[in-house]
Formats: sequence, structure tokens, C-alpha cells
Amino acid sequence: MAKQGETSYMHPGLNKPGAIPLFDLPTLRASLSDKYDLAPSPEIAAELSHIYDRMSRVVTPADWAIYAPYVKAINALKKERNAVILGHNYMTPEIYHGISDFGGDSLQLAIKATEVEADVIVQCGVHFMAETSKILSPEKTVLMPDMEAGCSLAESITAEGVEEMRRRYPGAPVVTYVNTTAEVKAASDICCTSSNAAQIVAAQDSDTVIMTPDQYLAQNVAKEVPQKNIVWWEGSCIVHEQYSAKDLRDFREWNPGTRLIAHPECPPDVVAEADFSGSTSGIIKYVTDEKPEKALLITECSMASNISDQLPEVDFVGPCNMCPFMKKITLEKVLYALDTMTGQVEVDPSVADKARLSVQRMIDLSHQLGI
Ligand code: SF4
Repeated sequence: MAKQGETSYMHPGLNKPGAIPLFDLPTLRASLSDKYDLAPSPEIAAELSHIYDRMSRVVTPADWAIYAPYVKAINALKKERNAVILGHNYMTPEIYHGISDFGGDSLQLAIKATEVEADVIVQCGVHFMAETSKILSPEKTVLMPDMEAGCSLAESITAEGVEEMRRRYPGAPVVTYVNTTAEVKAASDICCTSSNAAQIVAAQDSDTVIMTPDQYLAQNVAKEVPQKNIVWWEGSCIVHEQYSAKDLRDFREWNPGTRLIAHPECPPDVVAEADFSGSTSGIIKYVTDEKPEKALLITECSMASNISDQLPEVDFVGPCNMCPFMKKITLEKVLYALDTMTGQVEVDPSVADKARLSVQRMIDLSHQLGI
């Protein structure tokens, strides 16, 4: 069992029935090439130039000639399977712009999954996101292109961890970030996202509120909601915890005039140094509204890549951190999953029913609060 303060890296989908075998990419490419013409093709690249236009600032023409045959094959197979692809903001541009029908943060995507007519959902993101889609759309087939795409936050806590927090703080409600497994959501009272966490916590009918599993999101919320005694589990995101306040101060000194924009999964002193902090959708809105001349997004690398073509007036600068879990999703694996219909995500119905309640309570409360 993961204890408070410990982070384990168990990959929840591994060894489950339907998991895609762990091919190395050359083997996977060779196997797909038996059926599809996937050789680099300037002709297909030109044919799909309308798709390339969405990523031309960050993907070279030579790379596009490699990706385009996969994009064409996947988009054709999607129609055949009546499938839609949900692409998280942290996917690489050829996935986010090339094959995704909808882009966004994990909850936006899961809600989108309930609205589409498709039989099959391909989740281009990490495992807990596919579980959330399955919880909200149990009648649909949800495919995960790589079951090893986990998440350090989701893997830092189990349902037993939630019960341990309840024993420590009797009577306190448990507000759980959506970046968790179905079992953890099922053991919680209500979910939250990074964009609604402060309001969800403030609305709880208790002076003490337990937040799991992200210690930094909890500490950032505690500053916004000082009337509550917020206690937290000590999980963290391996991407956002790597930033330090000194990094930001140094960057500002060397690059005056750059707007620093941090995700609330960053430690509180990093958020305090930033000009703005918000969820991925909050970051997109802020940059779109403000259009700063130069912006440093203190979050996962693909975020800036995926919005840069819509915001040509903004110069996205500076270092970023890559999520190794998100980057496990590749065009090859998506094509393989759709072709073979492997990587199907299942959630025990009794767990899914309870987890759905926690997610639905969040959605209902958000509507009630007008957020
Ligand atoms: S960026 Fe962080 S929270 Fe998101 S999937 Fe990667 S490890 Fe998990």
C-alpha cells in the first residue's frame, strides 16, 4: 500500500487482460507496415497540408512527411470503427492536431466522451483519463494505446490511503483530484480539477477538508481558501515538482518582459513567483486573452507547442519539462490499438458506480456555483 509521503510507480494497466504487448517501436512499425503503407511520403504530407497548418510552427516539413502516412491511416480507421480520439493538451502536436477529434484537459475530454455518438473512444493521454472516460461512458469501448502510460500523482495513493486519511481526520470530507484511479475516486466524497479545486473546497460543509493526492495543489488551494483547515496527501506530479522559485527568478532576470505562467501542480513558492497560475484550460484562456509578447509556460512541454499556431503573436520561450508517461503515446501505438482493438480499459462496475458519484457531485456543484 502506498503510504502518505511515498510515491510508487506501479503501472496500473500492466498485466491486465487486453493490455497491448510492450513492442519496441521498430518492431511495431514493421508489424504495421505489413498492412499499411507507412513509408515517409511528401505526397501524403502535401495532401494533408490543411492538417499540417495547425502545427507548422513546431513540426518540420521533414517530420511531417514521416507522420502524415500514420495520420492518414488512423483517420481512415477512425471512420471504419466509428471511433473518436481524445487528445490531452500534453500530447505531441502530431497527435493533438493530427488525429484528435477533441483536445483539452482530462475532465473536458471525459465529458466530451459522454456527448459523442461514437462506439469507440481512443484516449490519447494517461491511464486514469481512460478510466474516467470509461466511468462516464460505460457503454463505449475505451482504448488506451499504451497501458504503461501512468501518472505519478495517480500512483501515489490507493483507496486504503484515502481511508487512512479519514481515520486521521474523522468527519472531514475527502476532495480528490481527478488525476487518480477509479478506486480512489470511489473512496472519496467529491472530485475536483485544478480549475475548480478552490471553489469545491470552499463549498464543503466542514472546517477541515482532506485533499488528495497532490500536496502542491492542496497547498496552493490553502492560500486561496484560508478559512478552511486543509490537510493533504503527499503525492506530487513529477513534471511540475521539478520547477523551483529560483528557476523563475533567474529566468526573469535573464529574460525581462516574459510573462511567467505556472500550473497549480507546481510548488507554492513557484506559483508565488509566477505572473499567473491556472489549469491547462486556464492557461490557454489567459494567454489567448492577454497575448503577451513572450510567455514561459511552467508546465509540460507540449502545452506551448499545441497552442503556438493559434497564437502567432506570442513568442513561447524557455525551458519546459516533459511528462514521460504522456510521451508513451505515439502514432504507431494509436494505429495498433485501433487496428487490433487491443488496450481496452475496464473498470469494475461497482467501483465505477461509486467513482461516477464523486465525479458527478463535482460537476453538479460546479454548475451550482456557476463555474
Ligand atoms: S504531467 Fe504530471 S499529473 Fe500529468 S500525467 Fe504526467 S505525471 Fe501525471
